[in-house]
Amino acid sequence: QQLATVGASSKYGGRYTVTMIPGDGIGPELMAHVKDVFRYAGVPVDFEEVQITSQEGDDVAIENAITAIKRNGVALKGGLKTLHLDPSFGVSRNVAVRVRLDLFANVLRCKTFPGLPSRHGDIDIVIIRENTEGEYTSLEHENVPGVVESYKIITAKNSERIARYAFEYAQRHGRKKVTAVHKANIMKMGDGLFLECCKKMSEEFPNIEYESMIIDNCSMQMVSRPQQFDVMVMPNLYGNIISNIGAGLVGGPGLVPGENIGQEYAVFETATRNTGKSIAGQNVANPTAMLLASALMLEHLGLDKYASLIENAVYKALADDKIRTPDLGGQHSTVDMVQTVVKEVEAQAAKL
Ligand code: ADP
Repeated sequence: QQLATVGASSKYGGRYTVTMIPGDGIGPELMAHVKDVFRYAGVPVDFEEVQITSQEGDDVAIENAITAIKRNGVALKGGLKTLHLDPSFGVSRNVAVRVRLDLFANVLRCKTFPGLPSRHGDIDIVIIRENTEGEYTSLEHENVPGVVESYKIITAKNSERIARYAFEYAQRHGRKKVTAVHKANIMKMGDGLFLECCKKMSEEFPNIEYESMIIDNCSMQMVSRPQQFDVMVMPNLYGNIISNIGAGLVGGPGLVPGENIGQEYAVFETATRNTGKSIAGQNVANPTAMLLASALMLEHLGLDKYASLIENAVYKALADDKIRTPDLGGQHSTVDMVQTVVKEVEAQAAKL
């Protein structure tokens, strides 16, 4: 019983069409670099670009984006700015994309990068986050002045679905352990249900070790002894926080890619989904996370050799050529990194 094996998107004559949502902040420049790298690698992918601006009430654009992803099946996406403090703005457009396309699993792999110094070596953690419910319902109201209710929804259906995904992922990738993260000591019903679903699912996978951990202890363990973790599964908000800790452990927001997987569609973006508006247009953003996200997308399409081509070139630029953008403490620009990757991709593509 295999979940979330998404079929290829629209494919004609050996070429694939994929939706590209540049997004805000550094999104558009990173996408331009992805296109360059794809061109030099000869990747058989055409992008259908959908612009979503940050205009309030820009519902038409988000509808167009969702329609485009439904048509193509697969998308590469930059972060969309959320207007945090205005409740009338309703559901975040990033959340809308995930919920409307039922992209129920957010998957990211936080693995130590070869050649990059980090506080803890040998980390290889897969964080699997429930991506459609929990605290992200945007259901809030003020009953009486000064009293606000925010709904956190946990369902058995979605908890079982993400738990199954985590165990199947572990099995598929030869992983040994799944850790369910929760706060069931306080949210006895909601997180209790999530935990119960994980525990029950673990019985179907006797060859995979199962443990549970409370989110507060888990946060501490992540920064003190992260090597103990293998595959982790958790509700939405804890996933958001643990993802950021995980990405931070291996080098920060510019490095780690992420995927949002559903049964029908898949959207690839950076793991921590930053917009990076404070560094936009300055040629300083680290393009690694978005390039690796594009490689994950190629893998998903079954274009494995192009995925490895790009992945290897990125790793080589970091490990051998020692390209260091400012987020990694260096002086190299975004373009320096991209040019180094392109040179390697060109050299290796000729041998394909
Ligand atoms: P902001 O919008 O203020 O830039 P974000 O929440 O988008 O903040 O990002 C958090 C931090 O991570 C910021 O300091 C941002 O500059 C940094 N950051 C995000 N993405 C990248 C990247 N690709 N390369 C370098 N730094 C990044």
